[in-house]
Amino acid sequence: MATITLPEAPVQESKKTTTKYVYFFGGGKADGNGKMKDDLGGKGAGLAEMTNAGLPVPPGFTIQTEACREYMRNGGVSKEVDRQMEEALSKLEALQGQKLGTGENPLLVSVRSGAKFSMPGMMDTILNLGLNDKSVEALVKRSNNPRFAADSYRRLIQMFGNVVLEIPKHAFDEVFDAKKKKKKAKLDTDLDAKALNEVIEEYKKVVKKHARQDFPQDPHEQLVMARDAVFRSWQNDRAKHYRRINNIDDMLGTAVNVQAMVYGNLGDTSGTGVGFTRNPATGAKEFYGEFLMNAQGEDVVSGVRTPVHISELHKIMPHVYDQLRDITTRLEKHYKDMQDFEFTIQDGKLYMLQTRNGKRTGLAAVQVAIDMVSEGLISKDEAIFRLDPNQVVDFFVSRLDDKDVRPEDVLTTKGIAASPGAVAGQIVFTADDAVEKAGHGAEKNPVILVRAETTPEDIHGMEVAIGILTSQGGATSHAAVVTRGMGKTCVAGAGEIVVDERARQMRARGQVFKEGDWITLDGTAGSVLRGKRKLLPPDPENLAKLDKFMSWAEPFRKIEVRANADIPRDAKKAREFGAEGIGLCRTEHMFFAPDRIPHMRAMILADNEKDRRKALKKLLPYQRKDFEGLFKAMEGLPVTIRLLDPPLHEFLPKREKLMVDIATLPRATAKRKKVLIAEYKDYGVKRASDLKEVLRSLLARVEELHEFNPMLGLRGCRLGITYPEITEMQVRAIIEAAVAVEKEGIKTHAEVMIPLIATVKEMENQGAIVKRVAEDVFKEKGKRVDYHVGTMIELPRACLVADEIAKEAQFFSFGTNDLTQTAFGFSRDDVNKILTAYLQEGILKQDPFAAIDQVGVGELVKIGIERGRRTRPDLEIGICGEHGGEPESVKFCHQVGMDYVSCSPFRVLTARLAAAQAGASDTLKVEGGRTK
Ligand code: ADP
Ligand code: MG
Ligand code: MG
Repeated sequence: MATITLPEAPVQESKKTTTKYVYFFGGGKADGNGKMKDDLGGKGAGLAEMTNAGLPVPPGFTIQTEACREYMRNGGVSKEVDRQMEEALSKLEALQGQKLGTGENPLLVSVRSGAKFSMPGMMDTILNLGLNDKSVEALVKRSNNPRFAADSYRRLIQMFGNVVLEIPKHAFDEVFDAKKKKKKAKLDTDLDAKALNEVIEEYKKVVKKHARQDFPQDPHEQLVMARDAVFRSWQNDRAKHYRRINNIDDMLGTAVNVQAMVYGNLGDTSGTGVGFTRNPATGAKEFYGEFLMNAQGEDVVSGVRTPVHISELHKIMPHVYDQLRDITTRLEKHYKDMQDFEFTIQDGKLYMLQTRNGKRTGLAAVQVAIDMVSEGLISKDEAIFRLDPNQVVDFFVSRLDDKDVRPEDVLTTKGIAASPGAVAGQIVFTADDAVEKAGHGAEKNPVILVRAETTPEDIHGMEVAIGILTSQGGATSHAAVVTRGMGKTCVAGAGEIVVDERARQMRARGQVFKEGDWITLDGTAGSVLRGKRKLLPPDPENLAKLDKFMSWAEPFRKIEVRANADIPRDAKKAREFGAEGIGLCRTEHMFFAPDRIPHMRAMILADNEKDRRKALKKLLPYQRKDFEGLFKAMEGLPVTIRLLDPPLHEFLPKREKLMVDIATLPRATAKRKKVLIAEYKDYGVKRASDLKEVLRSLLARVEELHEFNPMLGLRGCRLGITYPEITEMQVRAIIEAAVAVEKEGIKTHAEVMIPLIATVKEMENQGAIVKRVAEDVFKEKGKRVDYHVGTMIELPRACLVADEIAKEAQFFSFGTNDLTQTAFGFSRDDVNKILTAYLQEGILKQDPFAAIDQVGVGELVKIGIERGRRTRPDLEIGICGEHGGEPESVKFCHQVGMDYVSCSPFRVLTARLAAAQAGASDTLKVEGGRTK
């Protein structure tokens, strides 16, 4: 899917050269061609190209997108558009020897929407336009088929009523279904002409009632109204939503195609269908599609009748089948890509109605690309653009085996498909239970963590669970973001499921689920199923194909791809995916483990430096061991370690919880006290009598640390400046680990990263500690290692004074999460409420935390890079925010001259492909694989 939107083409307003609004196609010749998607839309360009190629396409004309933009600007089109449209209509009438909606052989047309990027089903089309009470009689005579004529007319009233007059679909459906019931008709086709004529009369009443006007009988009036309605449909909610999620420019507008009708509903030698030149799910080279005899337009996809596999056509009409194969094969060769096509057979004669590059899964994309290279259809350089980097994940997830799902197994289908893949596991309701039940091998004891919402405190449970289900929160909720980073299946915000964490119960569809019950999540679809459903594993053969594909793309890549990893296991995973270093190790994650958190808490609770140092000393060996593991896993590749960053209260119990526990303590039962003792044992509670004292002093410390705006509070380098001993301990652990590993003969490349720097003085302060401690260690151990000191650039001020900061920093890593928070003044944790409205109103086009805001935040990044390199030309620059794994952002990083991007291990391949495509676009001078 192309996600690039080009700026609107400048419109020539000059008086002399009138804009060409209308492009004719027919009689073997078209005014336009296949390259003119900006003006004609994908459908119009395809119709023009097929006409020029001499294929059987019903003639017509395309009103270009500028007319739609005009309509949006002025609430109507200019006289010139009307004039050119009438002119084209006359030409069409002459070519066909028919008149729109009049005479013995009335011309009927379809009015079809079609924008530059295909937006399937988002906008509207009207068929059989030109029919009225008189022309329908002519059609009866002409076709000698009263049923067909009545069916066509009732379809027109229905579509026109819905699309143009905005009458709800169900108003018509009710009439139609009632008629079927009355006539005991199973299928639509069971209604005869008489019944359909009754339907028409009732439809007219529906129109009159809802629209307070009669169905317009004048064909030209119908045409103008339909055209304008299609222009308006560009702005309907569905279309807007689709453009938002696919990043398509709202200003492009749609074209309108007016095309002579051909009839698939003329009887048993007529029909209509859709197909693909290859299998869009697997990519296999097979003719793939469906059709229906005696049907029109949408019948195939709408599900009113069950369509038939296209191979059947071979039996019914062999010559039509052969011709269709021949044409579509030619189309594929012509476009050098898999085609998705529409056709209609009228009385045994084939007509092509649409062709476009077909949408496909990631698996199919790679298969088709590889096949087309070996068929000599495309070059490897072209092939590498055929996989959307976001689709790489399709290769690594398990899939739900649909054959193993009965309707009664489905608990909900309305969750958010937050992180893809399918998993089956046993329910647990708390992170601790997850750890306990999962034991050491998540594969052996799969658990699914079910919560109303997850918080950072659940991380340890999320790590061992194979899947996460939440009943609240959206696509950017904690659960969704974290699991996506982990490459773990997640269904979020499944509102139909009620989670009672206290009672350790989940209710869905009137059933109660308890801890240990099996459920299956499908994070690709957003559904939850009962029991242990069958799953299909990722296919190693497919992975081999992906490897081959990547080997074509990789030589074009200019920037490195590193991974964000905190523990050796993730580091190893990252290297398997081809990571060339660790771009971000978050040290605080190391402190949450059960054997460390007590020391961390003791450190935070200490009210003097001596006690703090004592606790830190206990943490040192753990940290050293973690870093040794990372260095060993990376074998000399860069390992960027960020010093402690989050506000300290994140390690302590919540203030509100402490208050409640203190207030309820006097009335606590023995059982409750036992729970409390266990909960607070890390803070020195041994027996019930300790509780009162400990809880009170704990609350006092929590109150001290309490901040109104922790995101902007005591965190980042401010921690290390306030408590230098924290920086000292961490640096000691890093350098000691590096020395120890190098003594074993393994190379290391440590990069010590100071977070949240705003001024060069902060950098100086922390840099000095790093150097001093490193020198101490070198002296003590009698060995030196190479290391770098640098900073995260995540505050606007840091970008502006990057030239100053670069005097002290050997590398920059853009922390674009915080940079986005601080540039916009958005809190990432609270932004969801705002974002919904902002996206709906079009104030923001995209969630700036998902894809980097290139105009604003990106400008800060550019300033930072330019000023930083002014001071230090060899300054190493990367990005370590979530954006580092998002293809458009990766492309941006390539363009602004970063040395690397860093992302979660599971996004490494995506980033590698995105970076390679960006590099190839430059080298080959192409845009998205096509000549610029
Ligand atoms: P969409 O973009 O939603 O597929 P289309 O404009 O392609 O909408 O039209 C909807 C349906 O009507 C398709 O099945 C198409 O083949 C059919 N159709 C469109 N124009 C004609 C025509 N002139 N004659 C016969 N069928 C048509
Ligand atoms: Mg179509
Ligand atoms: Mg940060």
